[in-house]
Amino acid sequence: RQEAYAAVKNLPAVTRDGVEIALNINAGLLIDVPQLAVTGAAGIGLYRTEIPFMVAHEFPDTHRQAEIYRKALDAAEGKPVVFRTLDIGSDKVLPYWQRAEEENPAMGWRAIRIALDRPALLRQQLRALLLAADGRDLRIMFPMVTEVAEFDACRALLDLELQRAGERQVRLPASLQVGAMVEVPALLWQLDELLKRVDFISVGSNDLKQFIYAADRSTPSVNDRYDLLSPAMVRLLGQIAEASLATGTSLSLCGEMAGDPVGAMALMCLGYRNLSMTPPSVGPMRVMIRSLHLGQLCEYWARLVGLPGTAVRNALEHFARDREI
Ligand code: PEP
Ligand code: MG
Repeated sequence: RQEAYAAVKNLPAVTRDGVEIALNINAGLLIDVPQLAVTGAAGIGLYRTEIPFMVAHEFPDTHRQAEIYRKALDAAEGKPVVFRTLDIGSDKVLPYWQRAEEENPAMGWRAIRIALDRPALLRQQLRALLLAADGRDLRIMFPMVTEVAEFDACRALLDLELQRAGERQVRLPASLQVGAMVEVPALLWQLDELLKRVDFISVGSNDLKQFIYAADRSTPSVNDRYDLLSPAMVRLLGQIAEASLATGTSLSLCGEMAGDPVGAMALMCLGYRNLSMTPPSVGPMRVMIRSLHLGQLCEYWARLVGLPGTAVRNALEHFARDREI
């Protein structure tokens, strides 16, 4: 099978009726980046910058960080890379970072909450990213945005670093795109304001699901108790797509749902055209998309909307099996 995927890696991920889907990979370590060439993915839709911090023995300084990001951009050979700023806290623990015990770390002091309380940390990371880009395109994404004001505060720190870089004759990025993860439910009711400010959004379905269903993503007895294709998630994923389409803002989804063929079929019906997944999912996804007639699927999909529990998933599995997708 791996050989079959290698044979199609340079073919576009286009459905039989001509709809193209951008397939991207999630990465975190430099060894992941060559998977771009192995899978033929369009780019890195989520570069989890906390991963190098988690395997280091001490907090990497600006110089060390810039080196990591520069190597990632070099290895991507011009394909786009979305760098997500540090998402430490919760399940991502730094061995050298002392922190208070929390009852609910997933809802605790993590990601940009830490960054905004310790702005020097975020500024150092943004400085390193600007140095690493060294005149190339740069994409930066902020995790766990809960209020639009938090995005504004992160953006203001980025502007300070841009100004500082300019004063120091650092080559500024050829283009700069700044986005937010949509993974905290509160943001769903501020999408209009958020979409005025961002160049792109990316749905973090892993966290969004755990918060929507109040079901811890790392607790086996509850983490697949609720299906991503049950009515609440389907409806809100559709609302996010509609809002971003209406404003022409780039939209992607980078949680595990993107790498699940049935999840991806649902997302395509909801209007998602950009998915970011683990590298091994890219080949099977490309094959699935190339054998799919999206128009036919969407007709079928219209009859499934609102079905409870796992009924939508079961129906999509039947659809795929019947047509040998
Ligand atoms: C997510 O929450 O869906 C996501 C992509 O980010 P992470 O899994 O790193 O929290
Ligand atoms: Mg997340």
